Order: sequence, then structure tokens, then C-alpha cells
Amino acid sequence: MPDLGKPQNTIELIKKHRFHFRKRLGQNFLIDPHVLGKIADAANIVPEDCVLEIGPGIGAMTQYLAERAGKVVAVEIDSELIPILEETLKPYPNVILIHGDILKQDISALAEAYNEGKPLRVVANLPYYITTPIIMNLLRKDVPVKSITVMVQKEVAERMQARPGTKEYGALSLAVQYYANAEIKANVPPNCFIPRPNVGSAVIGLERYEKPPVFTRDPDFLFRLIRAAFHQRRKTLSNALSHGTPDGITREMVTRRLRDLQLSETIRGEALSLEEFAMLSDLLLEEIHD
Ligand code: SAM
Repeated sequence: MPDLGKPQNTIELIKKHRFHFRKRLGQNFLIDPHVLGKIADAANIVPEDCVLEIGPGIGAMTQYLAERAGKVVAVEIDSELIPILEETLKPYPNVILIHGDILKQDISALAEAYNEGKPLRVVANLPYYITTPIIMNLLRKDVPVKSITVMVQKEVAERMQARPGTKEYGALSLAVQYYANAEIKANVPPNCFIPRPNVGSAVIGLERYEKPPVFTRDPDFLFRLIRAAFHQRRKTLSNALSHGTPDGITREMVTRRLRDLQLSETIRGEALSLEEFAMLSDLLLEEIHD
């Protein structure tokens, strides 16, 4: 099978099958062997690994993954791509092709069926219209995934990796960093794709922690606070939390607990680290339950 990372091979295949790109499904195929190799390398795949690929397209990245991994489970939503994939992936008996929506897959059942229940490595050039729900679903507790190496919109990668006090820092940074160490591996320009996206892209690696780097009594409550804190990010934290959560938090509770943490009463959420949010979350829980 010719290297589908090469633009002429992709174009030939698309013409042969009279395939039409669907913008609605985030279809921007990678046509750069260097980038495809780089993503597969960044994922640190070994032959014992079972890789879950989201949206294989015509199978360009799948080929690179199948060369390295013991097994690749590839989930593609577009029925037009299934016959193409059956052709391009024929030489790779270690690829399992599933026609379906990744947001509706039971990842534990896939790990059970294809990897003896052991955690999977996720590698993908993600459809950008659903990047955040896909990643948050994969990071959730009890989902058997040990790493996620994915191409996303550059701004989204920057938000996932961002540190407190930067303009990119927000609810997504904290949600991702609660579960995983996030590191941008490469920036990728639009000309590496067909059709070209009108945004820059980046490959981000998320290495899941064995357990979260901070302790908190109630992670759901912590995430409600974080969402409220960044819902209107120009507001002070005491304002944002006393208006933005359904938990009956008052401005006085927040200022009192900020003082306990030796933080300014007028501080904004964007200045707090994950650890500070976790401590504040536990103190506010005490307030509510008192
Ligand atoms: N992996 C290919 C590549 O790198 O050239 C294609 C990547 S393209 C950015 C995204 C792929 O995800 C498309 O093939 C698209 O049809 C597929 N896709 C979109 N939404 C999906 C979903 N909900 N579940 C599974 N696949 C999806």
C-alpha cells in the first residue's frame, strides 16, 4: 500500500472513490509524511500497545500507527470513508475498523474487547468541531486511557497547556491538568492538510496521572467552582462564585476563605493555580456544610 501521507497518493485515492470532503465532520486530512511520523513518534507507541484512533479518514495516520502498535482500533463516523478504509487498511491485519461516533463508544468495552481491559493509547488528528468533548470524555475517571496524543487547533492546545496568569489559562487548562500532564509537541501549519484549515494546528500530548496531582474532597464541586470562576473571567472570584454556582456560596464565604489562604480578596480566578482552587474548594465545602 503506498504511503497515504504523500499528497499525490491521497489525491489519487480521493479521485478514484469520488470522495467529497465534509466540512461539517471536520475533515482535513494530513498530507505530510514528516508530520504523520512525528505524531506517531510523540505517542511513544510500543508493540505491546493497543491504540485507539479517532477519525482515521482515509487511513493515512492509521498506516503509521499500525506499523508501530500491536493493535489499532479506528473509529470513523463517515460511511463514505468505510469502503476506502477497507481498501487502504487491507494490508494491516492488526487494524480493527469500527463505523461509529466516538462520543457514543464505550471505551471500557473497547479496551476489554481488544486489549484485555488494559488502558489504551489514543492518537488522532481530531475533528476540531468536537475536540473538547472528546478529550474530556477520554480523561474522565475510570476511562481506560493512558495517554492522548492528538492534533488540535493551536489555540486549544495552548489553552490545555496554559499556566496561571496567562490569557490562555482557563477552565479547560485546569480540567485537563487535573487529569494529565499536557505538553505541546509540535506546531503544524495549514499547508500540511487537504483541504487547508483556516486555523493553525498543534500536536498535544496528554500523559494521564496515576492519580490527580491535587487532592480535593469533591472533584465535581471543584469543577463547578472552576467553571463559575471563568464564566465571566473579568469578575473577581468572590463575585463570580457567589453568582455563578448553584451551591449557595456567598461573597462573604469566598472572601473569608481567600483570607485563610492568604490570597487577595479581589483576586480573579485566572490567578489561582489548580492547587489553590482545590484548597479553596475544600474550604468552601466546609462553609456550605457548616
Ligand atoms: N486521520 C485522518 C488524517 O489525519 O488525515 C483524518 C482526520 S480528520 C481531521 C477527522 C476525521 O474524524 C474525519 O475522518 C471525520 O470523518 C472523522 N470524524 C468526525 N466526527 C467524528 C466522530 N464523532 N466520531 C468518529 N469520527 C469522526
